[in-house]
Amino acid sequence: MNNEEQHRILVVDDEPASIEVLTHIFGDDYEVFFATCGEKALELAMTAGPDVILLDVIMPGIDGYEVCRRLQAEPLTAGIPIIFITSCGDQEAETRGLEAGAMDYIQKPFNQAVVKVRTRNQIELKRSREQLTILTITDSLTQLANRRRFDEVVAREHARLARSGAQLSLLLLDVDQFKAYNDTYGHLNGDHCLRQVAGVIDEVVNRPADLAARYGGEEFVCILPETDLAGAVAVAEKIRQGVEALAIPHGASGVADHVTVSLGVFTTRCTARKGVTAVIAEADRQLYAAKSGGRNRVNARSDETEGTTANSHLHLRTVRQSPRS
Ligand code: GH3
Ligand code: MG
Ligand code: MG
Repeated sequence: MNNEEQHRILVVDDEPASIEVLTHIFGDDYEVFFATCGEKALELAMTAGPDVILLDVIMPGIDGYEVCRRLQAEPLTAGIPIIFITSCGDQEAETRGLEAGAMDYIQKPFNQAVVKVRTRNQIELKRSREQLTILTITDSLTQLANRRRFDEVVAREHARLARSGAQLSLLLLDVDQFKAYNDTYGHLNGDHCLRQVAGVIDEVVNRPADLAARYGGEEFVCILPETDLAGAVAVAEKIRQGVEALAIPHGASGVADHVTVSLGVFTTRCTARKGVTAVIAEADRQLYAAKSGGRNRVNARSDETEGTTANSHLHLRTVRQSPRS
């Protein structure tokens, strides 16, 4: 096993002897971090990214229960399984530990083999949970984010940007004459085509805060936070050209002899008053305009005055926003 694959364990105990024993047990198979107080444990949980935390209950300063509570409350650490290892042998202490959010509870003195197996089990469970989470937010055909993920992220980003008054661009894409493509080349080739289009989108949309998702059928959507109209149009145009460059033959298109896409872009300065549904609806109107304007094009609009770009492929319209209300 190389270092990248090696799982990380954070051992938290104020007794050096315990740390020594646990390091001995895990040292060969895992990367072991240790902390002798709650504060250090919280810090390491954030920075070291452990796969599991073995946590002592009684420590000077912040005790194990409180460490557990804080780890659960912090989104970055909430998914890390915690196993309490303690000499508090009574069942009340065990109940309290599990209620605080620990996944397991091991009493000292412990059997080394048992500690090893229980730890491994928690790491396995964590991995399964993560895989499941990925499945619930991924579109199985294209491997892009799915609609559920889009709904979640767009609401969150809209709320975040409304607080800072920053711009949000939404980009909607629809494959041109795709029904005819399926009718001519068959559904399986249609699926393959969608995967290729998704590949282009995924390549073009790559800022950390961006999200590309399959909106449904042959429609895709991109969330581009803190991106102005010119930036969003550039992304849209790059995708349009990228799909053309795939040169997927489409004899029944009527737009071109290959597969093309139409895109609608809407850029808005987020406010709590203008809900996210209205923003999506406006991007959809731009997409519709791109379709009725002849397809294989980008139609874009911003609710601000600046940012108009001229391009033979682009059909841009900006509307003047009434003075801030
Ligand atoms: P337009 O240029 O106006 O967008 O025409 P269109 O034919 O693309 O539009 P329409 O909405 O009539 O057709 C969409 C087609 O997309 C219909 C459906 O067969 C196809 N489609 C939707 N989802 C999938 C999919 O997952 N796989 C495949 N192969 N086809 C799909
Ligand atoms: Mg469609
Ligand atoms: Mg279509």
